[in-house]
Amino acid sequence: MTKNLGHMDIEKKTEYDSILEEFGISRIKKELLRIGADHLLFRRGIVFAHRDFDKILNLIEQKKGWAIISGRGPSNDLTYGHLILFELIKYLQGKYQCQFFLPFSDDEKYVFRKVDSLKSAYNLALKNAIDIFSLGFQPDQVHAYISSSTPRIAYLALTFSVNLTYNSIKSALGLIGEENVGTPYYSCIQAAHILHPTTDYDLPVVVPIGLDQDVFMRLTRDVARKRKITLPASLYIKYLKGLDGGPMSSSNPENCIFLRDSSQIVKKKIVRAFTGGRATIKEQRELGANPKICTIYDLFEKLFIKDDKELADICRRCKNGEIICGLDCKPKLINLIHEFQKQFEQRKKGVIKNLHKYFDHEINLSEINAKSDSK
Ligand code: SF4
Repeated sequence: MTKNLGHMDIEKKTEYDSILEEFGISRIKKELLRIGADHLLFRRGIVFAHRDFDKILNLIEQKKGWAIISGRGPSNDLTYGHLILFELIKYLQGKYQCQFFLPFSDDEKYVFRKVDSLKSAYNLALKNAIDIFSLGFQPDQVHAYISSSTPRIAYLALTFSVNLTYNSIKSALGLIGEENVGTPYYSCIQAAHILHPTTDYDLPVVVPIGLDQDVFMRLTRDVARKRKITLPASLYIKYLKGLDGGPMSSSNPENCIFLRDSSQIVKKKIVRAFTGGRATIKEQRELGANPKICTIYDLFEKLFIKDDKELADICRRCKNGEIICGLDCKPKLINLIHEFQKQFEQRKKGVIKNLHKYFDHEINLSEINAKSDSK
């Protein structure tokens, strides 16, 4: 059976490189010279590996088109963990002027029983869309669509379904055979999302993902190989730590900060967050703390402290016991998030008015507040 990669597995250093090698994924090293280290996500190794991104770089150098595709499964509000992904997409778009395809996979959340109805997934998708586009995307560079509202995706998924066997999906996803039939079929829909920019717009794609989602890339590349479609490339991103020190996941609301959390909730969550600090201030002043395991430092490093010197200074002062979690870092992070929230709320107003411009089909905004009663 193919390895099913959990969040924890990918953080174990010993397994890390062998997993990458097994699945033909390369660390970003020499490609960094071509990409440039002008964004902290690359400079700090938060985007740490790729498959075939060198081919996308070749296209860029030949001034040929390509696209980014990244799906969003609408089962909850966005967290700060999602910001890393959208920050990467925004950076690549700004630098290389490529199109961004954004399928909202309401169908995935429905068949995996993460939402009670397609209608509630639809409403969540529109809410998520408002938040994503408020991060600073331009409508003319985006193709957003709700998966189950897009007949072309259903058509492509059906045509791709003959190229995947039930056994290959069962083995790749670790299914036991008790799942509903929508579960294995969703791999065909996922392949349609990923390959649609290539089949319909002649744009080879890159998919930024976490390593644990690579199984869908491998299935989709199998389909592409059989149908002689340009294979999709991928970029691999490290996860943001959750507030308890594990991976941030929206299914565990206490361990993550949502973009829609109020300032008071954000403050409450950060005050309780796990750090690498000592039991007492006295002990921390004497022995120093550990930024490596600290969730506050993780947010600084991956999102909020853009200046490398400033980050290095926090790291040094933390280790030396010169700063204290609750007196220095936590108040600093609370302020940085409040600042972000102010700008985010401001941009949201403009996006709601223009939301339809981001979508490839008509949308019904009144649905956001409608009761999800049809299953
Ligand atoms: Fe984390 Fe700051 Fe505490 Fe160090 S001092 S462990 S960086 S919160």
